[in-house]
Amino acid sequence: MPSAGPRTPPLRDRADACPGALQTHSAADGELARVRVPGGLLRADQLRVLGAAAVELGDGALELTSRGNVQLRGLRPGAAGELGERLAAAGLLPSDSHETARNLLGSVLSGRAGGLLDARPWVRAFDAGLCADPTLAALPGRFLATFDDGRGDVAALGGDVGLLALSREAVALTLAGADSGLRATSDDAVALALAATRAFLAERAVQGGRAWRLAELTGGPARVTARVGGAPDAARADVPAEPRVRAVGAVPQDDGRTALAAVVPLGRLTAAQLPLLADLAAEVQLTPWRGVVVPDLADGSAAALLVEAGLVLDPGSPWTRVTACAGLPGCAKSLADVRADATAAVVVGALPADGARQHWAGCERRCGRPGGAVVDVVATGSGYRVDAPTS
Ligand code: SF4
Repeated sequence: MPSAGPRTPPLRDRADACPGALQTHSAADGELARVRVPGGLLRADQLRVLGAAAVELGDGALELTSRGNVQLRGLRPGAAGELGERLAAAGLLPSDSHETARNLLGSVLSGRAGGLLDARPWVRAFDAGLCADPTLAALPGRFLATFDDGRGDVAALGGDVGLLALSREAVALTLAGADSGLRATSDDAVALALAATRAFLAERAVQGGRAWRLAELTGGPARVTARVGGAPDAARADVPAEPRVRAVGAVPQDDGRTALAAVVPLGRLTAAQLPLLADLAAEVQLTPWRGVVVPDLADGSAAALLVEAGLVLDPGSPWTRVTACAGLPGCAKSLADVRADATAAVVVGALPADGARQHWAGCERRCGRPGGAVVDVVATGSGYRVDAPTS
């Protein structure tokens, strides 16, 4: 099912209904809460709080999302209030009013291995600036900001607003996943990204206030660039179409220590895995490809513990190429238990499409589908339809 030219932005007739930690979503298996984790960075104590909440209030596991956030499923009625209190006490809910707007991706392993600079201070400063500005609470829950240290991993993920390091000093502002031509120094870059975010909201208001994404605005990137001001650089930087780096396994850090980059099968961290991760490192990083990085280790000897707990460190594993939506029993729209079926296909070595990168979905909505070339495996009610790769 190849794509046929540029897509027409959808016309939105309602506000987005993205779930949050306080604004939960009613699913077939109970309430669902989504907790924003800017940059995917979680301290060990925060991981323990999330793990305990998943066990005591939900179904016992944490789901990882393609924006480096986490979801708790199967929450009992009325649990959202207690969840909010636990998250706020752990520093995971700095602003009730901005919680669904904090979709911030940062380069994986930034400041630890590779990259032109450390993007983590950008993530922290942008998050603080966003939460401090009451007008930015109006951002749609679909809004995404990316902070790429030059390695080209998260800039490729279609952020509405983003920073991409071109050198240690020069930074490009990206809008709707393309270079705007506007430049900043590393120190000034967050102010530019916040200005572009405010400009998105201003332009959105002029155009009726219904767009969820910058690309849905008429002339969005050009109009936001004009609102921000400054002279765009005529030479546009190349923004990668797909993430350039997706490490799996042991990664040597620049400081001589080791990071373990693990794939989490179908993005579901279990009650047994969460305390193990918290025991191993002071901080972990969730990845946009539903993995987890355990950094700052003396060596790679903890790999055996992670593998024993069900995480995947083999770059050749089929789990590196398979994702799935919630499916049954979590989603009433689903025509199949896609997670169980995908797991069975991995276990018996029967993945369709010769094991190509694939996303299993319980219906045509294909929730959670990753970007890039992916084979769709869609439940039909009488089996699965395997579609040709599309991006
Ligand atoms: S793709 Fe369909 S079945 Fe799967 S979670 Fe989304 S709505 Fe539910």
